[in-house]
Amino acid sequence: MTFDFNAFMRQIPSMSDLLNLPWVPPMEELLGRSAVKSVFAEVIGEFREMIRTGKISSVDGESIVREARARLAQRSTLSLRRVLNGTGVVVHTNLGRSPLPLEVMRQVEEVAAGYSTLEFSLDEGVRGHRNQHVEWLLCQLTGADGAVVVNNNAAAVLLCLAGLASGREVIVSRGELVEIGGSFRIPEILSFAGAKMVEVGTTNRTHLSDYESAISDSTAVLLKVHPSNFRIEGFHCSVDRQQLAQLAVARGLTLVEDLGSGLLEPLDNGMLTSEPTVKECLSQGVDLVTFSGDKLLGGPQIGVIAGRRQLTDRLKRHPLMRAFRVDKMTLAAFEGILRMMLQGRGDQIPARAMLSERPEKIKKRAQKIAAACRRRIRERSIPGDARVIPVEDAVGGGAFPAVPLNGYGVALDLPSLGGASRVQRLFRKTVPPVVLGVDEGMPCLHVRTLLSGEEMLFMKALDHVLGVR
Ligand SMILES: *Cc1c(COP(=O)(O)O)cnc(C)c1O
Repeated sequence: MTFDFNAFMRQIPSMSDLLNLPWVPPMEELLGRSAVKSVFAEVIGEFREMIRTGKISSVDGESIVREARARLAQRSTLSLRRVLNGTGVVVHTNLGRSPLPLEVMRQVEEVAAGYSTLEFSLDEGVRGHRNQHVEWLLCQLTGADGAVVVNNNAAAVLLCLAGLASGREVIVSRGELVEIGGSFRIPEILSFAGAKMVEVGTTNRTHLSDYESAISDSTAVLLKVHPSNFRIEGFHCSVDRQQLAQLAVARGLTLVEDLGSGLLEPLDNGMLTSEPTVKECLSQGVDLVTFSGDKLLGGPQIGVIAGRRQLTDRLKRHPLMRAFRVDKMTLAAFEGILRMMLQGRGDQIPARAMLSERPEKIKKRAQKIAAACRRRIRERSIPGDARVIPVEDAVGGGAFPAVPLNGYGVALDLPSLGGASRVQRLFRKTVPPVVLGVDEGMPCLHVRTLLSGEEMLFMKALDHVLGVR
């Protein structure tokens, strides 16, 4: 029997067949005609290719139409949108790290929707500097006498090294040559900054004498890096900040510390006490500290360099500054966050509130949610249950890796819907989508990271999922 390639190809609907389908006009309104056509062309092309290469042995027009429709539906929905975080990871990098307070978002809206003082001095009616909106606030909160902000902490570290150590040597302990989040690697940042890396010590032990003997005429910076989510247990030691600071002073070097998380005030739950605050680091003699705005500070994505004014002023004039400068919406949000901190209202910043939430309170909230879930499951006579279980939450963002947060979750036992991963997938398709964890083999809503008022949205999502059979 010969394979009738052409007859096979004729099964594929034509472009005009597809364009005439009744559900196309609303899609055209959302995406425009040419984008709709390009999606159809893409799908038709894929099916042709699959026939040509023998990947499929039968084809029907309907499955092509179905595929084209699904793809257009996906392309016409907002791609970057809100989700409910049911993972219990507070600073969840994949879910946008820190949710911002609504009062701060109102400031962002005003600045973004109109013109603003971004680089304008109202006193003098002349050009101002965007850094000015946050520098004084940062100095108040950290005890620094100068501060510069850039796009993120990776940029902050790069700017420090490019500005202070280009063409010179930077000494760093082998125990701190870490990679953070897959793409931030200290050796690569150093080489990109044009600095020569001088490694000292071993992975687990570095002594002051290791630093001392590595210093040469071309040394510019001693770099200390927060190991982030990398931990060495057992036989290890590193040199403490004060000793490094004394050494830097004695030898005329700059001590830079990449602190990562940026704790400005301790969190008031008595648990997360192992992290030094930015103020402590600076008072122990670090010249420049860098940290992120959207980790433990709970603000927008931003990188801060705080410390000695003479150095921060030098960095402000660096050509990279133009590439790393912060956008107005981010600056507006960051100013709002810093003012809340200064007013002693850090506990009203969502990420900080979630981090210091007491387990008993989380449990009470979980019990209410579980009861509401059970009612819905029973109403629909679906076999299953919703139970409150203890779970381990996490700070995330590389902070406090060794400290699990005790939390509670609502485990959904819904055997008729399939396994945990299928139920997770169903929840990712609701509006808004919900990202759940898995505990004890069941899909589980970690209640800590559900923002206040999101309970109703979760119930709507559950209704939707229970309606899917
Ligand atoms: C998170 C982190 C970074 C990267 O910060 P971003 O704000 O993500 O650019 C760098 N260093 C340390 C120690 C970190 O924890």
